[in-house]
Parts: sequence; C-alpha cells; structure tokens
Amino acid sequence: MSTSQRIEHHVAILGATGSIGTATVQVIEHLSRTDPTASWTLYGISGHHNTDLLTEIANRHRPNRVVVSSLEADEAKAVSDAAFPAGTRVGCGPDELIDLAGDPRVDILVAAIVGRAGLESTLAGVRAGKRVAIANKETLVVAGGLVRRLAAESGAELLPVDSEHAAIFQCLAGGGTPRRIILTASGGPFRDWSLEKMREATIEQALAHPTWQMGKKISIDSATMMNKALEIIEARWLFDCPADQIEVMIHPQSIIHSMVEMIDGSTIAQLSPPDMRLPIQHALTYPHCLPGDTPTLDLSRTACWTLEPVDVERFPAISLGFEVARVGGSAGAVVNAANEQAVGLFLEGRMRFTDIVTACRIALESHNHESNPSSDRLLELDLWARAEVRRWQLRSNAS
Ligand code: NAD
Ligand code: MG
Repeated sequence: MSTSQRIEHHVAILGATGSIGTATVQVIEHLSRTDPTASWTLYGISGHHNTDLLTEIANRHRPNRVVVSSLEADEAKAVSDAAFPAGTRVGCGPDELIDLAGDPRVDILVAAIVGRAGLESTLAGVRAGKRVAIANKETLVVAGGLVRRLAAESGAELLPVDSEHAAIFQCLAGGGTPRRIILTASGGPFRDWSLEKMREATIEQALAHPTWQMGKKISIDSATMMNKALEIIEARWLFDCPADQIEVMIHPQSIIHSMVEMIDGSTIAQLSPPDMRLPIQHALTYPHCLPGDTPTLDLSRTACWTLEPVDVERFPAISLGFEVARVGGSAGAVVNAANEQAVGLFLEGRMRFTDIVTACRIALESHNHESNPSSDRLLELDLWARAEVRRWQLRSNAS
C-alpha cells in the first residue's frame, strides 16, 4: 500500500504523563514503526504536574497541542517558551483540556486522567463523537448513564482500556448471548491479610501491587479492592449489564483478564501476561488486530492459574460496588468522590487503610439517592461527598 493511501490517525492523550499515558505513547511509537496500513500521529497531550516528562514527550513527538492542566495562563507561557518545541500550541487549565478533547482534528481520544478530574474532558470527547479509549473508569462510575446517552447521540465509540473490560469486549466479539460476566481480580497486596492486619497497613505496603505497575490512586484502590468495585460499576455501564449478571473471582496470577459465560454453558476467557500496552493497542486499532510489542504467554512450561471466590468480609468494597451498580443514579458519584477523598487522606497519613471503605459506605448511606441527577447535580454531590468524608474523619480522629 502506498503512503498516500494510508489512513491517518490523530491521537490525543489526556494524562500522557501517567502510567497509562506513557504506555500509550509507547504503543503509538510501536504502531508508527510497524503498522503498514496507517500513520499514527500524537496530535495532542496533557499532563498535570510532571512538566519535565510532558516536555520530553513533546520534544520527541512534536504534537500540535500540549495542555498543562494544572497551570494558570502566565505560568504556561513561561513553561512553553522555555521547553516545548516551536510550533506546538501550549494551553493550560481544565478548559483547554476540554477544548483538546473536542478538537476536530483528533479522531482517537485516550482518556487517561486519574479520577473525577477526567470527567469533563472525557465527556467532551464523547459529545464530539470520537473514538474514546477509556482508561478513566471514574467517569463511567460517576456518569455512566450520561456517557451512554451522549455516545448514542453523537456516535462516539467507547473502547475500554481497563484490562478486564477490554477482555470482556474481546470475549463478546465472537457473538453469542452472554449469561454473566466474570471479572477477575488479583486480590492486591493484602489478598491473604486478616482485617486486623489490614487495619495497620502502611502506605508503602498498600502501594506494593504484586502484579501491576500503576499510578498511586489505582494502586490503593487495588489494595482495598475498591478498584474492583469501580470495575463492577464500569462493566454495568459499558456493557449495559445488570449487576446480578456480574461476578468477581480472585485470580492472583493476573493472566486471565476476565471471562464471559454464554447461555449455552460455554465460558470464553481472554489471557495474556499483565501488560497494559495490550488493551491500549486493542482500543486504538480495533477492529484490526496488529502485531504487538508485549510479552506473550510461555505455554511450554507448567503453569498454575487459580480462581477463587472473593471474601467480602475482608473486602467490603465489593458489596458496595454491587450495590452502586444495582441502584445507579447518584450513588456512583457519591461513592467515587468519597473514595477519592479517603484515598487522598490515607496517602497523607491521616486515615487508616480500612477506614477508606468505611468512609465510602458512610457517605453512600447518608446521601438521599436521586435516580436521574443532572451533570451539574453530579458535581454538587461529588463535592458534598468529599466534605462528608472530611467531616467524618475529623469526628473519628477527635473521638
Ligand atoms: P497516574 O496517576 O499514573 O496518571 C494520571 C495522569 O492524570 C497523569 O498524566 C497526571 O498528570 C494526570 N492528572 C492527575 N490529576 C489531574 C487533574 N486534576 N487534572 C488533569 N490531569 C490530571 O494514573 P494511571 O495509573 O495512569 O491511571 C489513569 C486512569 O487509568 C485511572 O482512571 C485508572 O483507574 C485507569 N487505569 C489505570 C491502569 C494502570 O495500569 N495504571 C489500569 C486500568 C485503568
Ligand atoms: Mg482493571
């Protein structure tokens, strides 16, 4: 195929300096070297604090646009004059993030910001009808119903990056009627710990994930298993699947990324070594399957892959996840915000590890459920839940 016939992909990565963001940059570099059918251009990138890494990526790829989402305009100007390539438009603040997400020249948006901070820009990409590769699961937890509605109106394609959801997507690709979705979970660093021992868990212990290298927030979420709770809610919205058709199994080896049981009794699973570049490449290149750059399973050696039920007494986040997936409405925004606030307090050394999920439960139970909140109302509830967790933490520290 001649170069003139090659399809051009203009990709924007929101959160390019994070764990998913940098893995996406690697995938784009790999595809640019190896894909004979298309050209892959990094059109835009954003980062929040790590401007050194952002400038490094910018100088390697010379994107049209860079957004430093944490900076004010004059600070951004100083950074841009000093460090970014000539010809790159440098913007700052959340409005520029939203503008980049909806830029008409972007055809694939990778939503890789962590937390609710990624909501508005992800929604902007969905509204603009782009292919949105969603790593930012919090957007679906907070506003899954809204995302689905907007995507139906705009024709946006939602491609999961979360490894479990990418696996389910692939399991469903062959057709058939699913009966249930089985999300696998590594169990995190405290899979075998008693509740008493978890009460004393330190920040370092909670961050030490046994199988995945990830950002801090999702690493703590994996230790509490709130990550799996968020993924139950994410699956509910991405696959329009009722909560009672979702199950969670502990699979410490992180090889089986999830499974789908069909109504005829067969179960389809997706397997690979744990490496996020695989689901990222899948989301970028779907429906095509192109040669990858990640390790493959060594099936010449004896392997032991285990599956076991999750202990909801030790990991109460799981019940919380099912409850939120069942009731929908305002519950996702409240639990997500409570969790972000509580994880922040834990990382500052101001909250006990086991209090993270307790704080989420308390916020959920003290809010008046709304079945169809507007996007403005979701943001109000987010702020309310964060304040509720801070109040609860102050009261419990005082008593
Ligand atoms: P990370 O902390 O490594 O990176 C987060 C990115 O978001 C960085 O680029 C940072 O600059 C940016 N950011 C942080 N705060 C921001 C703000 N207020 N406004 C704008 N940008 C901000 O996180 P990560 O591990 O890459 O995770 C990103 C998302 O992907 C999360 O939603 C996470 O749940 C999801 N995810 C991550 C993995 C993984 O393996 N890391 C796997 C599945 C899903
Ligand atoms: Mg996951």
